[in-house]
Amino acid sequence: MSDPAAPVRLLVIEDNPESLDLMMYLLQAFGYAAFAAEDGESGLEAAAELRPDLIICDIHLPRMDGFGVVQRLKADPDLQMTPVLAVTALAMVGDRDRVLAGGFDGYISKPIDPLTFGGLVKRHLKPPSIC
Ligand code: MN
Repeated sequence: MSDPAAPVRLLVIEDNPESLDLMMYLLQAFGYAAFAAEDGESGLEAAAELRPDLIICDIHLPRMDGFGVVQRLKADPDLQMTPVLAVTALAMVGDRDRVLAGGFDGYISKPIDPLTFGGLVKRHLKPPSIC
């Protein structure tokens, strides 16, 4: 688990309340500080403000979809190193490639499996920086 003095901060951008609640619950249970945004534009604002260690972003979002969000994040010098994982119920052939080609660093499929989710988040977190 993370050091309570410097908790790892994650931002979840997801408009589906059930899916958001589940991810927030799991992230807190894993010991992370989890923050939520419910549409693409507020997600970008929250990312700029929070500078999270990792961002989890739904693809289908109001006001700006996940592809728009990741494109903006990866164009921002302050945020482009932050890993961004897509979360989506899309399960068509080629979707995974499309998500990765769109700039996401990884892919979580819905419905969310807690163990797979936890493992993927952990793998994409950078080791803590030493100041
Ligand atoms: Mn959605």
